[in-house]
Amino acid sequence: MDLALLDRTLSERGEPSYRARQVWEWTARGSASYGEMTTLAKPLRTVLAEEVPFSTLEVVTEREARDGTLKVLFRTHDGHPVEAVLMCYRDGRRSLCLSSQSGCPLTCTFCATGTMRFGRNLNASEILDQALHFRRIAPVNHAVYMGMGEPFLNYADVIESARRLPDLGITPRRTTISTVGWMPGLSRFVDEVDEPIRLALSIHAADPELRSELMPVNDRYPLGDVVTECRRYFELRRRKVFVEYVMLAGVNDSPAAARALAALLDSRTFKVNLIPYNPTGTFEGSSRQTIEGFKRELDRARIPATVRLTRGRDIEAACGQLASVR
Ligand code: SF4
Repeated sequence: MDLALLDRTLSERGEPSYRARQVWEWTARGSASYGEMTTLAKPLRTVLAEEVPFSTLEVVTEREARDGTLKVLFRTHDGHPVEAVLMCYRDGRRSLCLSSQSGCPLTCTFCATGTMRFGRNLNASEILDQALHFRRIAPVNHAVYMGMGEPFLNYADVIESARRLPDLGITPRRTTISTVGWMPGLSRFVDEVDEPIRLALSIHAADPELRSELMPVNDRYPLGDVVTECRRYFELRRRKVFVEYVMLAGVNDSPAAARALAALLDSRTFKVNLIPYNPTGTFEGSSRQTIEGFKRELDRARIPATVRLTRGRDIEAACGQLASVR
């Protein structure tokens, strides 16, 4: 729902200022239409239905994986593709993976989104409409900004949307913003965001040359500076930073690469999440044994590490696989 248009429409009709909040509260709790908002007068519901589209996004396709993961391809009003995913876990977690941009300008070589044409930043309403779509299907309790796009290239709208997620049932502690290390946004996040929203940093290689090959952003904002900024975040906020490390066979998965990663990090500030790679064409994923060997090196250096469960692989909804235009 375009929240700015909602505000304008209500104030033009002389409605009290709390009216927009009422509409938002109904929407955030999963209402499927204005018709359900029984605390609003009927004529007002009719006006809103005519003047403020219930979502800024149109659903193009919806696919469900064998494990229950749901991936939706949306389109913005000006034709840009956006994907979002709902992952359901046995322990009751219902986690959303949200996109912050249509496409991504940062062209990481292992990432399907990086290969599609960059469209534009999404506004806060377009980000929230991804979450609201799933909220109408079922209650949700976790969100990660790990879909299409680099969230800190779209800082203001990402933070604005994250601040509204608690109304949908997703607390700041259960919200994670994942960055490749876009420093201007990262520094603002460290300085400005008081809510305990979690931070994840995609590293994928500790060696500077390899990292620049995999992630060209490394030439602009070298990893050493980014890691220092994450330590500042820990000092200021006392919250650990999750490190994302995608396991690419024969590329970044050797014991030496694990030791280089361990040397870069410290156990007080960081916790590593090893991500089995979902093939997107160019790279192969590391074997299970290799991933275990890599983890053993981190264990030896006392760097906390876990291996991520992969979800939705059969419908290209897993990490690094979001791209509607290949
Ligand atoms: S990994 Fe993230 S930053 Fe890199 S191209 Fe993909 S979406 Fe963009």
